[in-house]
Amino acid sequence: MKIAIMGAGLSGLACGITLEKNGIEDFTIFESRNEVDDRFVNGEIFLSALNAPIEDSISYLSEEFGIYLQPVGDIKKLIIRSENEMTTITGTLGFNVVRGRRGDSISKQMESQLHSKIVFNSKHTYEDLKKGYTHIILATGDASYSEKMWNYNRDFTVSLKGGIVKGSFDRYATMAWLNNNFAPKGYSYLIPLSETEANIVIAYPDLEENTYLDFDMLWNRFFEAVKIDLKEKMELVDSFEITKYIIGHCKEARIGNTFFTGNCYGAIMPFLGFGQFSSIMTGIYSAHDLCGKGKYDKLIRTFDKSYENSLILRRAMEKMDNNDFDFLVKHLNGHIGNIVLDFNNINFLNIISNILKSVGLFNSRES
Ligand SMILES: Cc1cc2nc3c(=O)[nH]c(=O)nc-3n(C[C@H](O)[C@H](O)[C@H](O)COP(=O)(O)OP(=O)(O)OC[C@H]3O[C@@H](n4cnc5c(N)ncnc54)[C@H](O)[C@@H]3O)c2cc1C
Repeated sequence: MKIAIMGAGLSGLACGITLEKNGIEDFTIFESRNEVDDRFVNGEIFLSALNAPIEDSISYLSEEFGIYLQPVGDIKKLIIRSENEMTTITGTLGFNVVRGRRGDSISKQMESQLHSKIVFNSKHTYEDLKKGYTHIILATGDASYSEKMWNYNRDFTVSLKGGIVKGSFDRYATMAWLNNNFAPKGYSYLIPLSETEANIVIAYPDLEENTYLDFDMLWNRFFEAVKIDLKEKMELVDSFEITKYIIGHCKEARIGNTFFTGNCYGAIMPFLGFGQFSSIMTGIYSAHDLCGKGKYDKLIRTFDKSYENSLILRRAMEKMDNNDFDFLVKHLNGHIGNIVLDFNNINFLNIISNILKSVGLFNSRES
């Protein structure tokens, strides 16, 4: 067996680390960039409620799989704002991590746990690699190969605009805005990276009605609102923009000896666009299959179900106006919010979809 891993991101590195832990050394990781995570800096979240019944994804990865991640902060407070409402949910809700070209990015942390060398600046295509390797792990962080191979259902695309701001932040408080004035049918957020630095982002689906939106105008509006809400003067020190980020799902997890992992598989959950945990897990499980510890398609089945639930919520969210968001945020206030987001044995996706159904936001408009 001679294995090529295409992509040194979360899924590719998780696969490599797991292969090594299981005594398989005959693999090569090919990375097209100059170094691991050589891209814009941003904050990303592990939200525990999305991974229920796993209560703590960071300790789960350490204890079960020997993959050690150091977040930049725990999420002890989640502040959600809509146009006229605000709620604060407290508890041990998850973790903030950093991505991109910083020493503490979680991909860099994973790279340091790998013994094998990575081949950087790789120009090899999948077709090239197939000639020299018996097994290929596709871990390129996008769906281009999956789509090219007719193995992918694209559900929608998302546009994101974000930046790093300097100011004064509570590193244990993460914030989200459900407000169509900034991110129509999507959401905006602030993730603190330290006491003086945060990542702010607007993300919205590329629906037909969003085609002619002025990205910069939405962004400026959001940035001003953040300054007002936080009563902070903030300075934008870096920015990024992503258009048409593909969200979808593979039909087959494995075709012949090619494994689709991470975003190549469809690890991103459509509701909030979270895919880190499932990307790492698909990497680990593809390695387990190669080590004879289980069948990849069966091991990752749980993520297929999460994807479906998450897509239902996304579709419901696309039908919500600012009054609906006010209603939702008001009803997430206090006790209900804590139950939904801090009671980690409950499946968050099921609960929220049930709330939406019970208040008629989902059912009535479907018919
Ligand atoms: C702005 C933004 C915010 C996000 N926020 C969150 C969040 O808060 N929480 C969350 O859980 N998820 C979030 N996600 C999603 C999460 O980042 C992804 O699901 C996850 O990183 C996917 O892991 P991966 O292994 O598939 O790809 P990546 O980690 O992106 O790695 C792919 C690697 O493959 C390399 N590569 C690409 N093409 C080739 C090639 N041809 N040959 C060799 N190498 C190649 C790339 O350079 C890269 O290093 C966010 C995504 C974005 C863009």
